[in-house]
Amino acid sequence: MLVYRLPGTLDDEELTALLWEAGATGLEERGGLLRAYFEEEQPLSEQPGLAGGEWLQEEDRDWQAEWKQSLQPVQAGRVTVVPGWLLHEVPPGQVPLIIEPGMAFGTGHHATTRMAIEALSALKLDGQTVLDVGTGSGVLAMAASLLGASEALGLDIDPLTIPVAFENAEANGFQKDASGLHHTVTGRRLNFMEGTLDGEEIEDSERYGVLVANLYAELHDLLAPDYRASLKAGGPLILTGILEPRLPLVRAALEREGFLDVQERLDGEWVLVTARN
Ligand code: SAM
Repeated sequence: MLVYRLPGTLDDEELTALLWEAGATGLEERGGLLRAYFEEEQPLSEQPGLAGGEWLQEEDRDWQAEWKQSLQPVQAGRVTVVPGWLLHEVPPGQVPLIIEPGMAFGTGHHATTRMAIEALSALKLDGQTVLDVGTGSGVLAMAASLLGASEALGLDIDPLTIPVAFENAEANGFQKDASGLHHTVTGRRLNFMEGTLDGEEIEDSERYGVLVANLYAELHDLLAPDYRASLKAGGPLILTGILEPRLPLVRAALEREGFLDVQERLDGEWVLVTARN
């Protein structure tokens, strides 16, 4: 990689224009110096406005390798979220959850995802049914399933997320059966569907044992009656995606709907709220 390094900044339009005209393929500013990338050396030090620089031959960088390196495993409660190529880094005793970084939100690196997995980890999920509203990459529904839930459903209004979630499910050993539902070898059922909670009446027998939703405060406020109607009596509700200044809206919605035992946890600017139906 060939770099022409000279004093200057990206704000200097005259200088950057000269470098582009000279055939630069990219510009970067580091520590008060401008770095212009070239395919071949040019007589730039003789050119007015560009003198005073130096040519450097630098090792080529493997951007993809660096990007992959930056995606470190995330430990959240009993679960460690990893991309497939780092599976060997999951500490013994942790439940591995493979998420291939892709187009849907939810690699585990965001504080809200991490807090939601921690909250799921703190529950006894064996044999439970879990609903994940706004599933994205499928990370929370899958975490619930891998933690023992007998049935987990992830809903998302964005149709692009559903195939991504299914791909992640397959990476975690879930397999499709004839009905299109994914099962692990242990017989736990996991499914993803395009959609949302839509205010429909739900039979008691169809209610979920646990509901988790990583959305945003205004949507939690709107969906609060549906959360109540979708959860079994006493069922834990886990809500996140809430920016701290918007917390009062969620508190008021949960109080209005009669949720009990409301608790809050803060991580940076993000809040996770748990309650019981
Ligand atoms: N559950 C993942 C996680 O915790 O990392 C992804 C959460 S991401 C912040 C929110 C997701 O909710 C997005 O995939 C978005 O498409 C979806 N979403 C937004 N509004 C929704 C709604 N009304 N119903 C269902 N999903 C919704």
